[in-house]
Parts: sequence; C-alpha cells; structure tokens
Amino acid sequence: MKSISALQWSSWLDDFLPNMLWAAICVGNMKRDEALQLFREVCHCGAKVLSGTNGAQLGHNFLATLPYEEFEEIFAPIRGNTKANEACAAIGLISSLPDHLHWKRLFPDAKELEPLAVGIATCLDHHSQEATDVRWAKVYFMISCGRVHAPPNFIEEVVKYPNLGDMRKVRPSIRAFEMVIRNIESGTERPEGVAQPQTKQFWDEMMNKTSCIIPKRSPHERASVDATRMSIQSTLSELCDHFMTNVKTTSIDPRLDGSFGLTINMLTLAMELSVSPLNNFASGRIILRTIVENYITLKYLATKDDETIWMQYRNYGSGQTALAFLKNTFAEETPDSIDIERLEMLANEDAWLETKDIAVGNWAKLDLRKMATDVGVKDVYDAYYDWTSGFVHGHWGAVRDSSFTVCMNPLHRLHRIPAPGNPMPSVLSDCCKLCNRSLEEISRLFPSFKPRIDWKADAAEA
Ligand SMILES: [Zn+2]
Repeated sequence: MKSISALQWSSWLDDFLPNMLWAAICVGNMKRDEALQLFREVCHCGAKVLSGTNGAQLGHNFLATLPYEEFEEIFAPIRGNTKANEACAAIGLISSLPDHLHWKRLFPDAKELEPLAVGIATCLDHHSQEATDVRWAKVYFMISCGRVHAPPNFIEEVVKYPNLGDMRKVRPSIRAFEMVIRNIESGTERPEGVAQPQTKQFWDEMMNKTSCIIPKRSPHERASVDATRMSIQSTLSELCDHFMTNVKTTSIDPRLDGSFGLTINMLTLAMELSVSPLNNFASGRIILRTIVENYITLKYLATKDDETIWMQYRNYGSGQTALAFLKNTFAEETPDSIDIERLEMLANEDAWLETKDIAVGNWAKLDLRKMATDVGVKDVYDAYYDWTSGFVHGHWGAVRDSSFTVCMNPLHRLHRIPAPGNPMPSVLSDCCKLCNRSLEEISRLFPSFKPRIDWKADAAEA
C-alpha cells in the first residue's frame, strides 16, 4: 500500500483539463448526444492509429509526438462535423500547446477564443457533467485500444455511457478510473519522448491574452430593518426601566450591574448595527463576535450565580481599566480615542486604583470555549465564534470573504480579484437572537422580564 506522502495530489482544473481542450470545447459547444457520439468516433479513429502504441492517449502532450498525418486521421471526425469544426478552430490560436503546430495546420483560419472559454467554463468543476464526459472520453479511448483490464460490467457501462447503469455510481467510477490513468499522461508511466502536459504555460497564455471579467456588483438593495430597529429600541428602553426597578442599593451590586450591563451592551451593539449598513459587512461580523462573547459570559455568570464569581468578573474588568490608565499615563502619546480623565474616573470607580489587584488572562481563568461548554451553550460557540473570530484576527478565510471576488473569465480559472465592500448576508437577526437569549437570563435572574426583540418584523412586512 502506498503511503500518503507517496500519493501525489493532482488537480483536474490546473493540470489535466488543459491537456484535453479539444474535448472540453466539444462538450461546451455542442449538444451532449452529438458531442459524445463525436468522442466515440475520435476514439475509434485514435484506436485504429494508436492501438499498438504503448502509453498512447489523446491529450495534447501525446498528440504532439505524432506525425501530422496520424493526427489528422484521428481528428477527421471533428473536421467532418460543422459545429465541432467551427468551435475547435479556437485551439489553433493557443501557441503554448505542445501540439500547437498540428492544430494550427488543421485550423489555419482560427479567429476567436470564445468557444474555448465556453468549453472551459462547463468543465471547471471536475464533477460537472461536461467534465465527467471529457474524463469519460479518456477512459473510453483506453478501452477502445483494448488496454483496460477491469471487471466486464465496468467496461460495459463505460462503453454504453451514459445509457447503462445508475449514473450516480457510474459517473464517480469513471472519474475514479480517469484519475488512475493520469499516470500515463503525466506520471511514472508516461512514455519516453512524451513531454509533461504544459498546463502552466497554457494558463499563463490565457492570462496574457484575455482580460479579467469583473462581475457586476448587484446594486446593494439593503433590506429595511426599520421594524427591527424599533423593536430593539423599545426592548432596550424597557430593559433599562427593569434595571431601575431592581436597584436595591446605591452600593456596588455586581450581580445587577454585571448581568444588565452585559445585556444592555449587547442590545446597544445590535442597535448600532441596525442604524447603519454595517450588518452586511465585515465590521458587522466583528460586532456579532462581541455579542457572542457577551452572551457566553452572561450565561456563565447567570448559571453559576455566585456572589464571588460576579465580583471576580467585575474586579477583573476594573483592574484592566486601571492597567489601561496606568499604561497611558506613562506613555509619551495617548491614542486619540482615549479620554484620559474619563479613564481615570473609571479606574478609580469601585476602589482607588492603588488598592486594586490587576489580573491577566481570562477573568474566570477559563477560555471562552470552556466557559460555553461548562454552561451548556457550546452550540452558540460552535455556530458563531470561530468564523466571526476570523474577521477580528484577519484570518485568510475572512479576508478572502470580505475583500475578494472571483474573476468571471473562465480562461482565468476562477482566480480572485479585489472587491472591497462586497455586501455579505446581514448579521442583524443573529445578533437579535443572542440578545433575546440574554433577556431570558435577565428574566430568570430578576423575574420577570417579558419583552423580546422581534427580529422577524421586517421580513413579515416585506
Ligand atoms: Zn481574471
């Protein structure tokens, strides 16, 4: 058995599709029945010429080794089919193909690359019906040459493709077999004298000869969130009233301040999202991540509901404020966003900062994942935290999502081009759902609180 490291990754799009351009053009520009019939005829002609040639296949790298007369005989069916003839003429324009001279001689008057673009577009996905048909042609040719030793039912299914057997099984088995015979085309079984397929040169030529097609940005019709915003506003107002009815002392009350504070913070963030288009952009995801973190923290505190832990949460944050104040006091330059007097007031709020313990790390000495697991909301963590964290940390997945789109020129194999500010699905409903879960905690800690954000209100009105 081969070890994993001995197996080489091969990519249909990057390495093998460009070696079968004639077939891709046929499936992309002809009716399927006609294209498959044409493949059969080309394979039969090919088998007549090449059945005795070891390592023969119909890729451009092998075709380059043939004398023109043999090449012409193999592709006589294309010359004899008006549609195929017109479409395949495009190959005559591609100078990077190893068999370029043959194609140029076969199609001296080629003018446009468009049929090639159409053919490639249908075969970009290695699972597509058209790509499978091209991959089938490679297997069918080997069978036509009598060089495939496989179970008779597989051979029969390939020969009668696509009219025999369950296509949900036949198609994957053809694709799997095609991957095996790639070794003849470009691996250890490639015959001497046959060059590697020059696919990089092909893609480079396409990049140099054709321009990017930038997808039109659909006009950003921002769905109205007016009703949701009003619902957040009224819920927030009632939440503040509920706080006031629960104030029992003018002294420090970490349970009341902590639970309401986290929830008010969440609803305020949701409110901010609802008054700007941010909910459709990367910054909306960063806010959603903060709301998730607030919710998990609240859920942890509310589930433990322990005076010491409420105090621990408060002291940690208050120590961090003191630390920020001290650092900025001794800094040569303070960030514009920091109001040092305000920071000093906050740092001294619960106790003089000189008396405060300043802790580092997570306030509960647990990471957020462990906190979420501990209080049964790992589902929230898994659903929301990882992906939104990517936007906070500038991970590639998030950067890719927010800053790029795909070029629509199929001859550029779906490369990425910048598209800053491309709208993404709104995060507002997710934020509201988490706010409502926090309101449930408030209702449990300070019974009872019934208002909830109606985040479906806008959808109902639309
Ligand atoms: Zn492009």
